[in-house]
Amino acid sequence: TVRNPNQPEYLQAVREVTEDIIPYMEANAVDLIDAKLLERISEPERVISFRVVWMDDDNNVQVNRGYRVQMNSALGPYKGGLRFSPTVDLSVLKFLAFEQTFKNSLTGLPLGAGKGGADFDPKGKSDNEIMRFCQSFMTELFRHIGADTDVPAGDIGVGEREIGYLFGQYKRLRNNFTGVLTGKGPAWGGSFIRPEATGFGLLYFVERMFYETQNTLKGKTVAISGAGNVAYYAALKAISLGAKVVTISNSNGTIYDEHGFSQEKLDYVNTLKRNLEAYTTRFPAEYHEGKKPWQFACDIALPCATQNELDEQDVRQLLKNGCICIAEGANMPCTELAVKAILKSKILYAPGKAANAGGVAVSGLEMSQNRVGQQWTADKVDGKLKKIMQEIHDTCVHYGKDKNGVINYLKGANIGGFVKVATAMKAQGFV
Ligand code: NDP
Repeated sequence: TVRNPNQPEYLQAVREVTEDIIPYMEANAVDLIDAKLLERISEPERVISFRVVWMDDDNNVQVNRGYRVQMNSALGPYKGGLRFSPTVDLSVLKFLAFEQTFKNSLTGLPLGAGKGGADFDPKGKSDNEIMRFCQSFMTELFRHIGADTDVPAGDIGVGEREIGYLFGQYKRLRNNFTGVLTGKGPAWGGSFIRPEATGFGLLYFVERMFYETQNTLKGKTVAISGAGNVAYYAALKAISLGAKVVTISNSNGTIYDEHGFSQEKLDYVNTLKRNLEAYTTRFPAEYHEGKKPWQFACDIALPCATQNELDEQDVRQLLKNGCICIAEGANMPCTELAVKAILKSKILYAPGKAANAGGVAVSGLEMSQNRVGQQWTADKVDGKLKKIMQEIHDTCVHYGKDKNGVINYLKGANIGGFVKVATAMKAQGFV
């Protein structure tokens, strides 16, 4: 707290991990305590902060702040997304980069960890404004990244369009067509299944959790928050596995469709440009302004929007309505007290650092394809994604199952992710 004042999200993320790691090290790996691995892993290797100046459509000069947190390179080049949102600050990016360390380790791929972005609000900006912002942002960032150094991707507010502008500017500055960003379009170095990967991966993880308890997703009711990349593909995969998705939301409100969303309905949501209320003019459903999805009855809750969007009160409501599983598509969507309440209830709980690792896993596969100059088929990538998610699940079970057979997936993910990175850091000396 003293070293990181005014960084509540970052401290929250570190606390959540240390509660599992310290007892584990005391019992199994005192050498890691002696080597100060916990202190080292929670200190970023490097933090870059820079000015981004751009001109809006009315010829006004605008100034934003850009960042890249290069968290950990023990396992490979720094890897993690860029977020464009007015809520971006160092606390948010350090929490995301810290989580990324464990997540990337869990994928089993050679990936270090990083995160970056800017306090730029893409909402309401024209295409040209977005392009000018991305170009200005990359004009500084390019000197800090590279295919073997640091490979950013997308996150909230950064999709294929933004990755395109960022990639174009990097290429122009370096005169080099290289796999320096992931989430590229499939025609210019991108991997098939990257847009789908986080949402699909989340459902592969949940499917595996249910399989572990001899259950399936067929006929289950699912509440999803968010209406972005992760929410959309999570919903599609849940539907294809036989579940009924009844909610989609954004920061303004929630659509509750008791008949269940279909692909056609979800595609319609995508055309609404954040005006979710308009959905009810086309389909019989309810729109709840200012409400979250967690008040509606469901078997499975999938928070896929943002950090701290599901609190203790929401957990109580979900449990009251019979919810049996909460799996995080977003990063740290459950508050600290919410997590404690979920763990106490003993329902299935999949933490984001394990359950949403599908996105970075396919980014890792995109880097492999770029290195060898190939593009694998969608089926091949999807098959690898599914296998990676199942392996992450099994790692969580390995480290998280107690004597009575109860699985604490959070503990399993924390320890499973930590052991590999910490061991690599120790082997690489005092760096
Ligand atoms: P998008 O920008 O595509 O979508 C974000 C969605 O969340 C939007 O619908 C947005 O609504 C909504 N949202 C944002 N803030 C709130 C809020 N306070 N309450 C309710 N809804 C809100 O982002 P992604 O789908 O890519 O990312 C979603 C989450 O998943 C993030 O936590 C991200 O870090 C995580 N994640 C993403 C990965 C990826 O591959 N994309 C990989 C791993 C994790 P609005 O338009 O109103 O803001």
